[in-house]
Amino acid sequence: MVVDVQSKILPGVTHWQSPNFYAYYPANSSVAGFLGEILSAGINMVGFSWITSPAATELEMIVLDWLGKLLKLPQEFLSSGNCFGHGGGVIQGSASEAVLVVLLAARDKTLRMVGKSALGKLVVYGSDQTHSALQKACQIAGIHPENCRLLKTDSSTDYALSPEIVSEAISHDISIGLIPFFLCGTVGTTSSATVDPLYSLAKIAKSNGMWFHVDAAYAGSACICPEYRKYLDGVEEADSFNMNAHKWFLTNFDCSALWVKDRNALIQSLSTNPEFLKNKASQANLVVDYKDWQIPLGRRFRSLKLWMVLRLYGVENLQNYLRNHIELARYFQVCVGQDPRFEAICVNPLQIVAPRKFSLVCFRLLPPVDDNETRGSNKLNQDLLEAVNSTGRVFITHTALSGMYTLRLVVGAPLTERRHIDAAWKVLQDEAFTLLCSPLQ
Ligand code: PLP
Repeated sequence: MVVDVQSKILPGVTHWQSPNFYAYYPANSSVAGFLGEILSAGINMVGFSWITSPAATELEMIVLDWLGKLLKLPQEFLSSGNCFGHGGGVIQGSASEAVLVVLLAARDKTLRMVGKSALGKLVVYGSDQTHSALQKACQIAGIHPENCRLLKTDSSTDYALSPEIVSEAISHDISIGLIPFFLCGTVGTTSSATVDPLYSLAKIAKSNGMWFHVDAAYAGSACICPEYRKYLDGVEEADSFNMNAHKWFLTNFDCSALWVKDRNALIQSLSTNPEFLKNKASQANLVVDYKDWQIPLGRRFRSLKLWMVLRLYGVENLQNYLRNHIELARYFQVCVGQDPRFEAICVNPLQIVAPRKFSLVCFRLLPPVDDNETRGSNKLNQDLLEAVNSTGRVFITHTALSGMYTLRLVVGAPLTERRHIDAAWKVLQDEAFTLLCSPLQ
């Protein structure tokens, strides 16, 4: 079996835990996360209702309160806050599930006020940088495809959603009889890790009676550091907030933390109460039954691994872990911006195309001045990405910003050190050099 795993399986595995993995956003593994997974697999309970394993539900409530407090979320998001019984946290499998369940809750809350027949008039707002999970959620929730507004962003706002554009779109939609009901802001967009202006967006959502969801799937982790918490300012006014502990928080996949202020909105959309699940505790409304906060019935004991991560590493180590990655990304950014050899061979220096806030660096290789027409800068960067990844020594990915093919390097694997960044930068430089000296295809 071991031989088969080595010969048949591992050669086909993309090693997300490699220190040379810089693609997408990370999916951290750690000893604590791994031990939590083992324990959860060994216990293997299915904790859909409190009674099916009280410890699973209660630990989830406790651990999400801990994490919520670390992120300085307002009391209304916590299970143990002053407003017990209203808000709370829940672990979903993914940020996609998180946005779907809150969209369903918001949709049904609105439809209860305006009548079910208005479904075709409901409108959702995000930006062209919002993760495609929002669009998928709209498809599943029966939102008319034309009513999912992905508003345009550009480099003038660093690809952040402009409150003016949101306000105009909402006013226009209201004037033609549509019903705006859901706005999604992002802290750390997938393409360039930009941050939408939460305060202004929350204000707009509130004044129009809309649900405001904040997606901080990747960058939320960094906000446990006091110096990055400012990026969450305005979350106090949101209705729901999500971060993926399984991305950049040393918690093995899957563990997506979602907090809501109004748990009843979720429950009203997602609860069922068949005879075979009835029990005294649930009937008396004394407990949380997480089956009513999510799509599936069954659920794993995911809070165990988050509990272990928080307890074994502690706040300070976690903060330093995140800071180290951000510092390594800054170092890489400096390398990209300052390499003299590129200038020495009469090539325009690599240029940073989107400002860096966290551990993602967006960059491009500029073609030689006389090369714009023939190869084009997009093709050049595409070729560079393919050449770099073909070495098998690093793995990076790309995005498009303002129609420009842009390379992304994310520092986030637990084992990445400065020497790995140096090695990655060397691969990039060598491949860029080869490419720029090679005849055009
Ligand atoms: N939101 C953002 C900002 C993301 O970057 C991602 C994935 O990278 C997602 C949502 C989707 O995450 P998931 O795979 O947990 O659904």
